[in-house]
Amino acid sequence: MYTLEDWVRHGDELRRPLLVSDGLVGSESVGIVGGGLSGLSLAYRIGTARPDLPIKLIEKTGRLGGVIETWREGEWVCDLSVNAVRPHPSFWRLVDDLDMGGSFHPSRTTASSRWVILRDGKHMISPATILKIGALGLLRGALNSRKSDSSVLDVIQNSAIADAMTLGIVNDTAAEVDANFLFPSLTGFGPKAPISRRRLRRKISKSYPIFTPRKGSLASLEGGMEEIIQGLHNAISKMGNIEIIMESGEGSPDELSSAYNIPISSMIWASKLPGRNYGQTTLSVFVVGYPEEEVSGVETGYGTLIPDSKLPISGILHESDIHYSSRAPESHRLFRLMVPHSRWDGNEQSVREALRKIDGFSGEPAILQKIGEREIPRYPPGYLSSLMNYSGDLSLSGWTGSGVSVTHVVDEAERISELFTQARKD
Ligand SMILES: Cc1cc2nc3c(=O)[nH]c(=O)nc-3n(C[C@H](O)[C@H](O)[C@H](O)COP(=O)(O)OP(=O)(O)OC[C@H]3O[C@@H](n4cnc5c(N)ncnc54)[C@H](O)[C@@H]3O)c2cc1C
Repeated sequence: MYTLEDWVRHGDELRRPLLVSDGLVGSESVGIVGGGLSGLSLAYRIGTARPDLPIKLIEKTGRLGGVIETWREGEWVCDLSVNAVRPHPSFWRLVDDLDMGGSFHPSRTTASSRWVILRDGKHMISPATILKIGALGLLRGALNSRKSDSSVLDVIQNSAIADAMTLGIVNDTAAEVDANFLFPSLTGFGPKAPISRRRLRRKISKSYPIFTPRKGSLASLEGGMEEIIQGLHNAISKMGNIEIIMESGEGSPDELSSAYNIPISSMIWASKLPGRNYGQTTLSVFVVGYPEEEVSGVETGYGTLIPDSKLPISGILHESDIHYSSRAPESHRLFRLMVPHSRWDGNEQSVREALRKIDGFSGEPAILQKIGEREIPRYPPGYLSSLMNYSGDLSLSGWTGSGVSVTHVVDEAERISELFTQARKD
């Protein structure tokens, strides 16, 4: 069904279904509900592909960006949700098309190490980590990976390692997370590329504008992820066919359809669907900053995952180590702490005490504060399979749909806009 060119543009994102209604591309106007990264990318991509098509972007609050927000206090800078992007050409294309390449940089090569704290101490994550699963576990995991409703724990049969991974990505434990949803290429979910993975990877790596990312690296924007929101907002504000409606209030699809005169089949729901029954988890995000000498025992790296549910902190990200741009005052380091509400008593002192127990963090911080809370959708086992053959009247997009990452929502917006372009040609 997909061509080699499609695979080079979108890679493994093609394994995830598009949740698009039959009537969408024939619409005379389009309504996009939700002004997060997904809604903004859709407005920009569809609005560019079809400048003749009137588009309404409807956001219930007075702010664009959804969960993406960059906190600043003096020279301390930290993202509340996504802080950096893993390699995928769609994000690079978006930055390039918005003419923001000058502000987009690879993460520092010195910050690639990741650690996990297991019962027997802190381990650097490497290909050898897989040995902790054992031969039988690997075999059972491989067999489970082909089932449609396996959890991540079914596939990665070491609960501490599996939990560390899922907590770090979706703030949930591995038994509660759909394996196909988290890594469809590993489980072999969805359509297959027409050439080997290696050849495809080589072709994809040649397709990046701005710079070719190194394998396993990340990239981020100088002023934090809010910059991409501002870039998209600036671009769509100049496009004559897009109207941005703010503070619409929390409407249902039917209410927004009649309030803004948009047929349901012309609407893309790029936000949580009222009645989505999978639920969500909540976490608080803290920043902690130190003079360098107070944390000299903390190695430079990307971060540490902490699966032990007795500690309120599930992850520590080394913000000032990771990014090309400075995120802390001179001679200081900044860390971001992820604090799932399922394992926290709500007391800031508990976070402070837990941090002191972690190797290298017993010093006196220059700053320690909660910067916000976020809800993360749940994706239970069987979730992605349940979305195959979607046939609703309403089109769905964003991270409450078929993928959780920013590369997913940005690539999905391109794929949906390509349907509009294709329909024109046909
Ligand atoms: C703590 C955290 C860490 C993350 N880390 C990473 C990471 O490292 N890498 C990565 O790739 N991704 C990461 N993500 C995920 C990434 O941030 C999301 O994939 C992406 O931002 C989702 O964008 P969205 O537009 O789909 O949803 P949202 O940002 O949730 O936007 C939805 C928008 O819809 C609006 N809305 C809701 N209901 C209505 C309604 N009825 N009418 C009108 N508007 C409505 C909301 O106000 C909101 O503005 C992280 C997320 C969090 C929370």
